[in-house]
Amino acid sequence: HLPDFGLGSWPARRARINPGRTALTEAGRSLTYAGLADRVQRLAGALTRLGVRPGDRVAYLGVNAITVFETLFATARCGAIFVPLNYRLSPAEIRYMLDDSGASVLVHSADTADLVAAAGGLPGGVVLATAGTFEAELAEAGPAPETPVRLEDPCLLLYTSGTTGRPKAAVLTHGNLTWNTVNQLAHLDVLGTDKALCIAPLFHCVGLGQITLPTLFKGGSVEPVARFEPGTILARIGEAGITSFSAVPTMLEMLCRHEDWPRTDLSSLTCVLYGGSPVAERVARAWLDRGVKLLQGYGMTEASPGVSMATHEGTLDHPVAAGVPHFFTDVAALGPGLTPQPLDGTPAELLVRGPHVFGGYWNRPGESAASFVEDDWFRTGDVVRVDDDGWAHVVDRVKDMIISGGENVYPAEIEAAAVRLDEVDACAVVGVPDERWGEAGAAFVVVRPGAELDEPAFRAHLEQHLARYKIPKHVQFTDALPRNATGKIRRVELRARAAETFTNGSA
Ligand code: ATP
Ligand code: MG
Repeated sequence: HLPDFGLGSWPARRARINPGRTALTEAGRSLTYAGLADRVQRLAGALTRLGVRPGDRVAYLGVNAITVFETLFATARCGAIFVPLNYRLSPAEIRYMLDDSGASVLVHSADTADLVAAAGGLPGGVVLATAGTFEAELAEAGPAPETPVRLEDPCLLLYTSGTTGRPKAAVLTHGNLTWNTVNQLAHLDVLGTDKALCIAPLFHCVGLGQITLPTLFKGGSVEPVARFEPGTILARIGEAGITSFSAVPTMLEMLCRHEDWPRTDLSSLTCVLYGGSPVAERVARAWLDRGVKLLQGYGMTEASPGVSMATHEGTLDHPVAAGVPHFFTDVAALGPGLTPQPLDGTPAELLVRGPHVFGGYWNRPGESAASFVEDDWFRTGDVVRVDDDGWAHVVDRVKDMIISGGENVYPAEIEAAAVRLDEVDACAVVGVPDERWGEAGAAFVVVRPGAELDEPAFRAHLEQHLARYKIPKHVQFTDALPRNATGKIRRVELRARAAETFTNGSA
């Protein structure tokens, strides 16, 4: 009997304890842990028959579904590496990721068949369609051979969101993902009777790591949701007695603004988690005012992803803070000479260390080495401040900071102030080169439908909340902000737009 302590062993281990409990459920289909263990075992057999060996990459392209989990666990069971891809990307971007990861198998759902074709398929590899060849292979397969899997073996290539540049694949080991799960369970009151709705996309760390894997580890049940439709999700919460879900801030906002929100039964929810980008205070308040334990998580793909999280006891008093570090997570500030220093109320770049933090990016030795100091402290690239009570606040990304007239200006602070004005739906601030100040702020403002706002009124509002040097020099009203699949603002695009629109000296 070979040792296998990887993620691929989770379904069988849970089936030994609670075989009849529901593991996964979606429209028209439900799997117990025993059922999941059986299908994972046979799918691993099928992948082996198709030539998948330890260390090989198996990519997945499709909406949230039970098959994502089956493929993840089966790939892990083979000692191979799962590569979930963002189906909102262009064919060229998918092509890049298939080549970069060197996947030898690609599993896709029916709705991404055209995208697979447009990306050029997988020359020399095997393509399986979940509704067709995937089931056929699974039906014919015998059980998988035993494969030793150690916690330090790679399990997942997870691409970052590509907010600051081209997405990079973080190599996450079985151990990284297991320790993140332990951290989440140590922080949250997750139970084996929980029913988590999986609405954040599974190709992103929030969807996979924040509540989903911890719930499956604990023996609760997970319901993947293919498409984010706020009305359907609100109805489903009451109907199914959903206890928890992870979201990104734009999803929380769409849910609490939906017409059904006031009459939605939220009483079954024990916690709602979110992370990935800042949340507007009015959105957090809308959930907290309904009695929901809304908890902000802060993290990144490289940390599998959790670094810190709000607590059940403290969230009401700190509605938009990133909480306290997880149980097995160390944090520090990047000090002079690239040394770790204690964090305090002064904004500083955050360093993080822990058994859930990755060891490096796929195929990028230079960037991997540059992202660590003193061997095992990962440079997050985020500016964080910690209050006297130990609660962390994400100030902004180092790369987004604007230096105007020698002063550091954080766009996130301006954006948070801007959306406190009822008329403002969303706001993004970026830097533009400026002859006099070096850099100046340019604000893109989306006005709430039906509301009216002009530049003087917007400026007057900002002046009430911010020091003068922080007020953006340029303001442009726009219909919508460019966002990626998880609602993050595409600042690269806005910077280009701003540089084009606001030439030096013009106002
Ligand atoms: P890339 O690394 O490719 O530029 P990305 O950093 O957006 O993209 P992710 O790993 O998805 O890729 O996101 C992690 C980042 O998201 C963090 O480094 C941080 O900047 C931001 N973030 C995460 N949680 C929060 C939060 N609670 N509040 C504010 N920002 C957050
Ligand atoms: Mg990043």
